[in-house]
Amino acid sequence: MKERGITTITLKKINKEKVYQYIYRKKITSKQQIVQELQMGLSTVSQNLNVLEQEGLIERKGNFDSTGGRKAQAIQIVPDVKIAIGVGILKDMFHIAAVNLYGEAIRKDTFSIPYRNTEEYYQQVTDEIKEFIAQNHYAEDKILGVSIAIQGIISPDGSAVTYGAILNNAEMKLSDYADRLPYPSRLEHDSKAAAYLELWNHNELDSAVVFLLNRNLGGAVITNHCVHQGMSMHSGTLEHMCINHEGPLCYCGNRGCLETYCSANALEAAAAMPVRDFFEKLRTEKSPAFSQIWKDYLEHLAFAMKNLNMVVDSPIIISGYLAPYFAEEDILYLLDCINHSAPFQMNREQILVGTHGQYTPAIGAALFYVEEFIRKEVI
Ligand SMILES: [Zn+2]
Repeated sequence: MKERGITTITLKKINKEKVYQYIYRKKITSKQQIVQELQMGLSTVSQNLNVLEQEGLIERKGNFDSTGGRKAQAIQIVPDVKIAIGVGILKDMFHIAAVNLYGEAIRKDTFSIPYRNTEEYYQQVTDEIKEFIAQNHYAEDKILGVSIAIQGIISPDGSAVTYGAILNNAEMKLSDYADRLPYPSRLEHDSKAAAYLELWNHNELDSAVVFLLNRNLGGAVITNHCVHQGMSMHSGTLEHMCINHEGPLCYCGNRGCLETYCSANALEAAAAMPVRDFFEKLRTEKSPAFSQIWKDYLEHLAFAMKNLNMVVDSPIIISGYLAPYFAEEDILYLLDCINHSAPFQMNREQILVGTHGQYTPAIGAALFYVEEFIRKEVI
């Protein structure tokens, strides 16, 4: 008797989740469509829709056009019934993004507070996160969690940073944030967070190499539709690939890492001006000096892309801060450089460009909680 009771409850839950998942995937649908596609009885579907609506998970909004009879009601999920918060910590600033259940950044903000490994800093960041949530009128139970993207390698158990040469934050712990926040929270390596967002936006990809062109360079490898972590969590750190062993000194202590040629910092140093001004001058003034700096940059990038394509035969995703500055002619130039002396040619479709700029790691980090919620709701 007892067992049967549990089975019935489980079945009810499965049906509810199936209906929610279907609506989530379709984005907009009708009761009739759910009945047909899920091959579920009309009364079961109606019952589940009522429950989901009462729980605030779905809404019925507007009607489909109909050729006769009653118009079908349009059903969709409520994308902001839950919100995940993503934070991107950088040396001189941090970003906060509020992400809905479709992975869209619905609010974002930047705070010019430089990183310091002090109690005051962690207090300041967590206060700003709470203020951001309050200002946007998100109730506490709406927040799925706060996911913090860090420039540094995170320990496999997620509790601390194990390598943090940029921010000198190898002492940073999850508890520095978690103890001050009334929400679940977690740390994420910023490059991997960026890769989650790119994977989310390119769901069709099985594999990819992600170049995170941020102030500091980052990277990630996607295989089997997953971001590859590695034995000690440093898979995809293409920023420390050596491309010239006599090159400039990298913050890691070695010479000629890709970081020293292809990070936004390296580009700014070469141009002796902020990135925004550089591109403005490059595109409008078309001076040979600026063109040369940009060509050098693209050639170094292409060198790394060509070599990595030999390791992972997949599309390449250009992501992060510099990505929105890439024009079609830049992609074609990259391809020319890649294919100039490669045994295997890459084509235009293999180079993808991300669109979220400097917010990419923050948004990508937040997706962890979105996916967790959707999985819980739908599996
Ligand atoms: Zn290095």
